[in-house]
Amino acid sequence: MSYMNMNEIGEKDFEKLDMLFEEVIPNAEEIWLFGNGKIARAFDKYLQICDVKINGHVVSDDIHRNSTENNTITLKEFKERYKKGKTKLFLTIDSCYYSEILPKLLFLEDDLIYLNKVWKQNVLDRCGDVENITIIVPVCDFCAGIKCYGCTVAAPLSKSGMYNFDDYKKDLMKLKNLCGDNIQHINFTGGDVFLHPKFVEFVEYARDLFPRVFFSCSTNGVLFNTQQDDVWRRLGKCNITLNWTLYPVKYKDIEATVEKIDKLSESQINLQIIGDALDEDKNSWKIPYTFKKQKKYDWLFCRFHKDGHQCLTMRDGKLACCFSMRRVKLLEDNFKGYFTEEFEQSTKNISLDLYEINDPEFLYEWMQQRLDICDYCSIRERKSLGKWVPSNCDVTEWFVE
Ligand code: SF4
Ligand code: SF4
Repeated sequence: MSYMNMNEIGEKDFEKLDMLFEEVIPNAEEIWLFGNGKIARAFDKYLQICDVKINGHVVSDDIHRNSTENNTITLKEFKERYKKGKTKLFLTIDSCYYSEILPKLLFLEDDLIYLNKVWKQNVLDRCGDVENITIIVPVCDFCAGIKCYGCTVAAPLSKSGMYNFDDYKKDLMKLKNLCGDNIQHINFTGGDVFLHPKFVEFVEYARDLFPRVFFSCSTNGVLFNTQQDDVWRRLGKCNITLNWTLYPVKYKDIEATVEKIDKLSESQINLQIIGDALDEDKNSWKIPYTFKKQKKYDWLFCRFHKDGHQCLTMRDGKLACCFSMRRVKLLEDNFKGYFTEEFEQSTKNISLDLYEINDPEFLYEWMQQRLDICDYCSIRERKSLGKWVPSNCDVTEWFVE
């Protein structure tokens, strides 16, 4: 199971992206961002990633000229250099300031570019300041009793991969020392977490280190009914939320098990059911890889990069910003001959070595970057995998033409 939670992006959002990057930006002689706050800084970073050079930032007056890092001019100075149809100004401020600012910018007409709420949120999620980090801990790489077509972490291709408990303890301690104050959520995931013989110890150890952090666990629930009572009691003591993704498969003793979890955990486990197993139309939302290079700017709509939070996956002494670190390893073990040279090359900087990072700022800067492998994620093909079906472990489940 992988941790995910975001609003779906529509085709119209991609059309707007194309218009922006293929028509508006190439035809502009000057590009300015209005504002100098969080949204403007994040959008500035995003444009840099997309190889778009901006001229600088515009603020309403001298009082707001608070940055020495960017080329910042006042609205008065901007007006003096503005050329109709050739200068574009992006409105990179929170919409709550629109009523105050917009009347001053009406002279720009079509040269003023708005960013809608979803765009702004996506820019902040990918390139915004890193403040509250979610740590994803994949304890086990495989599942029992269920294999999903195109599984995000390629679990159907694994039979034995697990996070060694002693390595995990060392890694979590190092991470706590590095950026513990910014960690606000730890999510345990798999494959199936209940296949790791020490899963409960993983949670207990983390609870000792992080007494006040929110804990969750993503699970397919297939093994719920095989757990001893003590498992629910101990997990209950750790105050963990179980995010249970129901699949259209047979769950044994489902109602009695849910009742038991609630009773034995003394209501300290919040059981959230995501998806309806009885609904045969359950969708599998996946991003497959492609060997054709993708448009850089599509990265804005990658649903897995930090996922609306600031997520880091921690596994075997490494940190990564999305599932690719785990998925590529399993694909490589199973289908290496299928990789192109360029694709293989792009997988080299997919993660950071946890023990080589001593400055949290370096980590945060890295979390705001687009990786080489993002060139090969077919974000626009994400819908083509359609309804949930079982996996045949065929390579085409993870790659599209
Ligand atoms: S195979 Fe299915 S249940 Fe298992 S990790 Fe993948 S998506 Fe989750
Ligand atoms: S490799 Fe890049 S585009 Fe693909 S899921 Fe990860 S962050 Fe998103």
